[in-house]
Amino acid sequence: MLTKPNDIEELLYFSQRDFDEGGEFKAWVFKPTCEKCGAKLGFKGKGSKCPDCGENTLRKKSARSKEFYCNTCETKKNALVCEGCNTGFRKDDLNLQMNIEYTCPHCKEQLEAQIPWKKKGKSIIFKCIKCDGKLTIKQLK
Ligand SMILES: [Zn+2]
Ligand SMILES: [Zn+2]
Ligand SMILES: [Zn+2]
Repeated sequence: MLTKPNDIEELLYFSQRDFDEGGEFKAWVFKPTCEKCGAKLGFKGKGSKCPDCGENTLRKKSARSKEFYCNTCETKKNALVCEGCNTGFRKDDLNLQMNIEYTCPHCKEQLEAQIPWKKKGKSIIFKCIKCDGKLTIKQLK
């Protein structure tokens, strides 16, 4: 059984819709824990420590944005920032897993799966754990 979220605050991502092939799914990704202080990593950050240059110049592009920008590296960062110690981590280094509860459009079973969470804007394609049928989650940009 997958761990279900109690609160939206525990999550980096939540979505409920249909696969391209049909069939409903519910998908969620929990905020990972900081390896240094044990607090949660998320999208809050202002003058946070950049995972590339180590300077405290990582900030969000805007209050609602989920993207960071480092003023020292002068590049956009696909990062998460610790809510405890304010350290930035590269999202690709964190091995984030997406939890999916779904109804397969091929075998019609209700199933659960865990798959790696990819970058935004890239479709996630995986095989049904029961029938091997192809399932596509189109991610919004
Ligand atoms: Zn930097
Ligand atoms: Zn921390
Ligand atoms: Zn199936």
